[in-house]
Formats: sequence, C-alpha cells, structure tokens
Amino acid sequence: MKKWAKVKHICSRIEQYVCALLYPHAATCPLCGEMRKVDGYYALCPDCMDKLEEMQVPSAACNKCLSPVRRGQGCNMCRSGRMKSIDACFSPFCYRNEVRRLVHQFKFDGNSSYIRYLSFKMAEALPDREWDFLVPVPLSRERMWDRGVNQARLLAEALSQRTNIPVLDALERTVNRKPQSATPMEKRAENVKGVFRCIGTLDGLRILLIDDVRTTGSTAQACATEMKKAGAKRVGLCTLAVVYRDPKKFRKRKNEKKQKFIRSSKILHTNRLK
Ligand SMILES: [Zn+2]
Ligand SMILES: [Zn+2]
Repeated sequence: MKKWAKVKHICSRIEQYVCALLYPHAATCPLCGEMRKVDGYYALCPDCMDKLEEMQVPSAACNKCLSPVRRGQGCNMCRSGRMKSIDACFSPFCYRNEVRRLVHQFKFDGNSSYIRYLSFKMAEALPDREWDFLVPVPLSRERMWDRGVNQARLLAEALSQRTNIPVLDALERTVNRKPQSATPMEKRAENVKGVFRCIGTLDGLRILLIDDVRTTGSTAQACATEMKKAGAKRVGLCTLAVVYRDPKKFRKRKNEKKQKFIRSSKILHTNRLK
C-alpha cells in the first residue's frame, strides 16, 4: 500500500510536470478533472470552488474552537478542556464531501496545484495578522519518507507568502506512533502524549500552529502544550478544515440508528418466539 502510494505520488508529479510543459496556460481541475485555460492562478474550476464555498464553517460555531454549539448551551469541547492550551482556532472549511476529497488528494497524491486557493481561504479565515511565527505540525521521519511531503509545512509556506508571517520549525517528533487517523477517537490524546518536543525557547512569542485537518484536537493540544512550556505567550491553531458535526444532523442520525436497533431487536425477538 505504501509502495503504491509512492508510485502514485511520483506519477502524479510527472503528469503535472509534463502537462505544465505541453500546456503552459492550461490546468486540470483536481476535483472534476476538467481541463481548462487558466490565468496561472487557481487550478480549481469555478464550479468546484462554489461547491467548496458551501462547506464553510457555520457562523454558529464556538468562537474559540469552532465546534458546533447548541443554542443556549456552552461548547462541549472547551468545557472538557481538550483545547485548553490553544487560545483560538481558525479554519475556512468543514471537513466533508469535496473538501475531504481535496485534503485526501493533497495528503496522499501530493497534488498541490490548488494550494494557492487553499492558503487564500486560510488567510481569509484569520481575523488579524498578530502572530510572530507560523509553526507547522511536524511529520515523523518515516512518514515523511512515505509521503515525500509534509502537507502542514506546504500550507504554512503558502500562508506565509500571503501574510508575511515567517515559518518556524519549532517542533519535532521524538517518537513515531500509529497515525491519528488509524487510532480510535477516545485513544487519540493518549497516542500523542510525549510525541512532540519544542526546539529552543519561544519566550513571549505568539505562535500560529498550522495543520491540515483538526478532528479531536489532540495533536494540536499536544503541540500547544509543549510550546506553552517553552514560553509561548499565545498559541492559535489554523487548519484547512475542521471535523464539524452539525448537531441537528447528528441528532437525526442518532435517532435513525436507535430506531434501526429497536426494529432489528424486535425481529430477533419474534424469530426467537417462533
Ligand atoms: Zn472542477
Ligand atoms: Zn469551544
């Protein structure tokens, strides 16, 4: 699987290079595959960009951590203290549908032709530029070999060009653990414990941590804790997307599952009686 991902990554790079040589003013939309003439700026076609716009983080999200909040109630994520070392979160998109596909392509195929658009949306999500450094979440050496690229660093570099905030590699991974995506939600905080280390001191600095997706926030929390220990005054988190479970849809799905369970247990019960 790993070998196959590497081959796919190399093929995709060659394809991009050959296309750029043959058709300098054309680009293929990474979402729908449409080949079109571009002004050399965004590789995504306008239709796909519209689809992404529909997946922006709703204004009803928690001010601090962007998690869904029910009217009149506090934020569960903030109340649980899972983000206590992080002072603010910024993200343009919810992690679903087209955004999910884009992040996957970006992560595993190394297709970064649309990074300019993504960094533009990230910069738009930042209310101010009051940060001293952008710090990307580091990858382990092994994973870096597999992927060939740290997507968090690519995002940080692109965002740095837009905002003029310099990139600083202030963190390193001391141990290699199972990827968070392959770890159950409830074990993710444990999985990143003691994984990150801060290189040098960050006395009085305002740091904006950069990553691609925030799910439980455990990775960001582990990084932020280390940076606060190293003296950082303020730590923010800017990700391309956040996993956002719409409370209404979540409730509906929970009820559907409950009804399904009741139905199946009734069938089981009648079958037993027979
Ligand atoms: Zn498209
Ligand atoms: Zn919150």
